[in-house]
Amino acid sequence: ALLFSLGAGAAQAPSNTQLAGAELNRRVEKLLRQMTLEEKAGQLAQYSIGTPTGPGTGRDDYETLVRAGAVGSLFNVVGARETNHYQRIAMEQSRLKIPLLFGFDVIHGHRTLFPTPLAMASSFNPALVEQAMRMAGAEASSEGIRWVFSPMVDIARDARWGRIIEGSGEDPYLGAAMARAYVRGYQGKSLAEPTSVAASVKHFAAYGAAEAGRDYNTVDMSELTLRQVYLPPFQAAVAEGAATVMSAFNSLNGVPATANPQLLTGILRKEWGFNGFVVSDWTAVQELVNHGIALDGATAVRKALTAGVEMDMESHLYGPGIPQLVRSGKLSQAVVDEAVRRVLRVKFALGLFEHPYADEKAGAYVATAEKRELARRVAEESIVLLKNEGGVLPLSTSGRKIALVGPLADSAVDMLGAWNGKGDPKDVVTLRAALERRLEGKAQLLYAKGTGILSHEPSGIQQAVKAAEASDVVIAALGEDASQMSGEAASRTRLGLPGHQEQLLQALAATGKPVVLVLFNGHPLVLENAQAHARAIVEAWHPGIEAGNAVANLLFGDVNFSARLPVSLPRSVGQLPLYYSQLSTGRPAGTTDLTRMPRSTGEKYISRYIDEQNSPLYPFGYGLSYTTFDFSPPVLSVPVLKAAAVKKRGQGVMRVKSQVRNTGKVRGTVVAQLYLGLRGASTAQPVRQLVGFERLTLAPGESRDVEFTLGFQELSFLDASAARVVEPGTQYELWVGDSSEATQHARFAME
Ligand code: BGC
Repeated sequence: ALLFSLGAGAAQAPSNTQLAGAELNRRVEKLLRQMTLEEKAGQLAQYSIGTPTGPGTGRDDYETLVRAGAVGSLFNVVGARETNHYQRIAMEQSRLKIPLLFGFDVIHGHRTLFPTPLAMASSFNPALVEQAMRMAGAEASSEGIRWVFSPMVDIARDARWGRIIEGSGEDPYLGAAMARAYVRGYQGKSLAEPTSVAASVKHFAAYGAAEAGRDYNTVDMSELTLRQVYLPPFQAAVAEGAATVMSAFNSLNGVPATANPQLLTGILRKEWGFNGFVVSDWTAVQELVNHGIALDGATAVRKALTAGVEMDMESHLYGPGIPQLVRSGKLSQAVVDEAVRRVLRVKFALGLFEHPYADEKAGAYVATAEKRELARRVAEESIVLLKNEGGVLPLSTSGRKIALVGPLADSAVDMLGAWNGKGDPKDVVTLRAALERRLEGKAQLLYAKGTGILSHEPSGIQQAVKAAEASDVVIAALGEDASQMSGEAASRTRLGLPGHQEQLLQALAATGKPVVLVLFNGHPLVLENAQAHARAIVEAWHPGIEAGNAVANLLFGDVNFSARLPVSLPRSVGQLPLYYSQLSTGRPAGTTDLTRMPRSTGEKYISRYIDEQNSPLYPFGYGLSYTTFDFSPPVLSVPVLKAAAVKKRGQGVMRVKSQVRNTGKVRGTVVAQLYLGLRGASTAQPVRQLVGFERLTLAPGESRDVEFTLGFQELSFLDASAARVVEPGTQYELWVGDSSEATQHARFAME
């Protein structure tokens, strides 16, 4: 029996036309005919340079393997000279002269580090993210890296999971929009452009739902949730033409993703028409033994390859294992050939056979004004203003004394974020550096670190308090260490500010001076304590090389805040997983703060905690600005819809319009968001679900209409057999506004 129902009908058209076509096939088949079994297995093997595992332990060993045609891809090879070195061996000394494909973890920039992916998702600006990732791809390809292990499109709803920073947050609609943007940015108009890099959409699938937020942990979920929440960003990336997919570490409903034919063959290839190749995650093939579904490496190879994993990252098993399995009759030659075809197609499409080398004469990396400008814009649009009590922000410069306190105020390396590729702390402008420059001759800056991020020595707090006492306003730059506390294998159970930072914040607040808390962090944090001590809170995430300039521009109001949260911020860890698009339960959700009410008020048996509210501290889609906006109730182009017609017409069956007005005193950008909820359907549906968003920049007093178009995709849902349907007799409600708690609404019926 299948774990998942497979989509009805014949296989889809190929997802990427650049990986199909008669001429390409002719070249692939011609090469394939010349290859020995060992050379075929070699194309399916990928190694990280310098990892002391398996047969290749040093540079010499990899050279030997490449010369023998026993390597398809290398990664973590640094710089044009080095990639060319190995490529020359492949092109000049191997029998068939098949170029190597060099990969790298380019996650949010290569040399020019942009904000982390979760931060970039806060921009709700896919076009800008696309532009940034185009630059990242160009920088990587200039060093011979034509393949990036990005985007990570895992939906994540549990802030404990360290890797939540690598994706676009909790929402499938936003996640899909960002997934498309990354792929377009990396792959450009054509893979063959020398500045294009093949994307690797990861981690397929449901890795972000690791139980209890613990990295690598098991996932068990219904097919409806999988398809409605976790798969849409993958499907969007594949439809956009992503050349490769990376299989996940976790097991899904009892079958490890790296040996899961329903996922890798059924859904990915048969339903979605994926025609690129799948690479395993790091040693994930070998880990099938740990998962307990293979007693030895050979079985792991057979299971992974036949399920649909074409390339083995770092298990060192495919290379030696495949020929043995085929010779002993345990693996069919046809499966191997098909895998090799897929890998070769990507290499041909990238133009590697014609242009295998990087240009070594291209100058050393310089963070030019143009690169900085883009990095700064992305950072400015990624930083969320959470709280601004009494208008403490924007700050003014003239004649004032400003205290700058905290372990993140001047830590260049932490501004780069986790997975900082080849980013260099020397390129970073810290907040301290930016403020010193800005305030020079105008205002006085008193800097004190106060405490370390994690240090157990609160000894600097007194000095920080002194600086605060001598100042008019305090900027506290607090948060998480970028590489130890977020990213892979960095799950946390406590999500407050680590170390003595909350103590520091409390001491600063006790001076009575207004405290502006600027957070540099990966995990969405629990801010209940922090919030009590800060008049303003700025969620800056880890913003990349222009961190300091971007934050300063926002703090002083040169640039207005426009970012919105791509995740719900919890009140306490016990609420996790937390997300706005929950299903209704049979009991009221308890919107009032019942923690302050006696339990005997007749509201006892509702869906709530006895010691915590249900709501997040700050909801998905939320973010403040220096101005305010209001929305008129949405106006629908038609009062009712007919299910049959919606299905038939597909796109553009209803337009939804609302007038947005800037009601404040300065220019600002709002992220208009459209949410949809439906009732009366055959399966329970989220109370609301994002189905559209648009950034609008408005002058003070200016009004403009925002218009969204809905079609079958937005209006449909999955029935109990996981088929996408619209059903007559259902009722829809739409909300428009600037967070997931938008209140302006309209209703219509599906007949
Ligand atoms: C991570 C992947 C990454 C790979 C290669 C793995 O540990 O899960 O996301 O691309 O390593 O570095």
